[in-house]
Amino acid sequence: MSALAGLVAALASGRVKVVDLTHRLDPDFPVIVLPPEFGQCARFRIEEVSAYDHRGPAWKWHEITMNEHTGTHFDAPCHWISGRDVPAGSVDEIDPAAFIGPACVIDCSAEAAADPDFLLQPAHVEAWEARHGPIPAGSWVLMRTDWSRRSGAAYLNMAGDGAHSPGPSAAAIEALLARGIRGFGTETVGTDAGQAAHFDPPFPAHYLLHGAGRFGLQCLKGLDRLPPTGAVLIAAPLKIRGGTGSPLRVLALVEEGQ
Ligand code: MN
Repeated sequence: MSALAGLVAALASGRVKVVDLTHRLDPDFPVIVLPPEFGQCARFRIEEVSAYDHRGPAWKWHEITMNEHTGTHFDAPCHWISGRDVPAGSVDEIDPAAFIGPACVIDCSAEAAADPDFLLQPAHVEAWEARHGPIPAGSWVLMRTDWSRRSGAAYLNMAGDGAHSPGPSAAAIEALLARGIRGFGTETVGTDAGQAAHFDPPFPAHYLLHGAGRFGLQCLKGLDRLPPTGAVLIAAPLKIRGGTGSPLRVLALVEEGQ
């Protein structure tokens, strides 16, 4: 049997399941909030154009607007100044084969529950590898925090000194880049921690990943449904001209028994 015929059979039998890691695009879903002197990320907006009525008797459709970085979304290298000169660094130019790859899921849910400012460190990556084996080159590395169970104000978790949400340290991203990862994904509003404006460099996940031509995924939902290894992630952004990112449907293929 060919590889694709095998996949089709496994999907049909349920031996391979499709797990949706995407939040619903909804005006109520929070977006990142920047200091007021900066341009802001728009929430999702939806407007009915017609609904089987005088505006269009046999059809229904909506007008939608949003930022490239609204909801569950993909970050391309050109999103960050460090990646502005990366060849084919916008969503329309990235080789589509780059959107599909194996997933390694690092469970930080207990640590994030105990400390909203929890930072993934190289030691956590090494401890994960001691249990599950080396992180293969080309992997999507996903930081599970169970943050996607939060909603409303608790999701951004803003305080007087900014947002408090978990993320990676600069050293952890450097360690993952040394392993040749494809990208890094989180359940929080960004790939960086809430306090990452104060890190060195500021926003290290964005700065380092995109400078290296790698990708980000954020606002992922329900990473607890993935095994530590073995899932295949499909994360194809919209083909926006010069786009720095895009909302997308993130799907994981998971084999039974994993
Ligand atoms: Mn983004």
